Amino acid sequence: MLIDRFNRRITNLRISVTDKCNLRCFYCHKEGQFSNTGVEMTPEEIKEIALVFRELGVKKVKITGGEPLLRRDIVEIISLMPSFEEISMTTNGILLEKYAQELKESGLSRVNISLDTLSPETYRKLTGGNIEEVVKGLDSAVNAGLTPVKLNMVVMSGINHNEVEEMIEFISKYNSNGIKVILQVIELLKLPELEKYYYDIGSIEEIISAQANGFRVRSMHHRKQYFLNSSAVEFVRPIDNTEFCYNCNRIRITTDGKIKPCLLRDDNLVDIKGLKGDELKKKIFEAIGLREPYFVCNKGGGQVE
Ligand code: SAM
Repeated sequence: MLIDRFNRRITNLRISVTDKCNLRCFYCHKEGQFSNTGVEMTPEEIKEIALVFRELGVKKVKITGGEPLLRRDIVEIISLMPSFEEISMTTNGILLEKYAQELKESGLSRVNISLDTLSPETYRKLTGGNIEEVVKGLDSAVNAGLTPVKLNMVVMSGINHNEVEEMIEFISKYNSNGIKVILQVIELLKLPELEKYYYDIGSIEEIISAQANGFRVRSMHHRKQYFLNSSAVEFVRPIDNTEFCYNCNRIRITTDGKIKPCLLRDDNLVDIKGLKGDELKKKIFEAIGLREPYFVCNKGGGQVE
């Protein structure tokens, strides 16, 4: 079992399989990766890492990128995965119509699709892409049973901060016979160049919580998920959130095969590319030893020095 010095058990693994992307979202944090080495792990290397983490108690795996569906061998990557409680993928959805059924048959459990707005013009401005392709991808994912699909909506001031209710109405169309699409409202990471777009989604959460029939608190980051009639809305608020950090049970692998102990740090990566068995385990324990909450409860919250 993997338990760090802050008694956080690692149960979730997030693997980036490529740095390449077919969109140009101006706000993208690139999963905290700025390596751009062009190096990618092979399906076999990804499988080996997944196997060892499973042996050490990881229950859920998320495949991400860049855009994971740009990997020509993405179906092979998923089919080689050992079994987990859940194998999911975060995608922009552009190529999902083509892949949804095949991915389901290869063992993918569900997908997260990034969709910040329902306006074709705003979508084009934000990402450079065509929203119609994403909606087709969403429909295909629902039809293929890659559910519940989570729609990732990053909220940005002056761009889409007043579109949450519209998005809830949109997902409710998919949810008349049980929850198939969940809205995930995500706080914008405060990168210096994005400061002016930052929007405190706490105010949106207050409105939604007042309308909700009920809620549950997820073990992951203690995120709250609210139930509204036939739909569900989850809030992801990492910024200055000590509870988020103290309940972080996720670890990341970068595209070029390095363990990234914290989303918000880039200075303590541990290289595991090509390693196997005991050698790989040793490096995993080394990385777990480097984990510490980014935001801590000293003087009402702040960063670990
Ligand atoms: N290409 C895939 C996609 O678009 O979903 C996976 C990679 S993308 C970096 C993963 C998630 O990070 C997306 O849901 C995206 O909206 C979110 N994201 C990107 N930049 C962000 C930022 N500055 N703050 C918060 N979330 C962000």
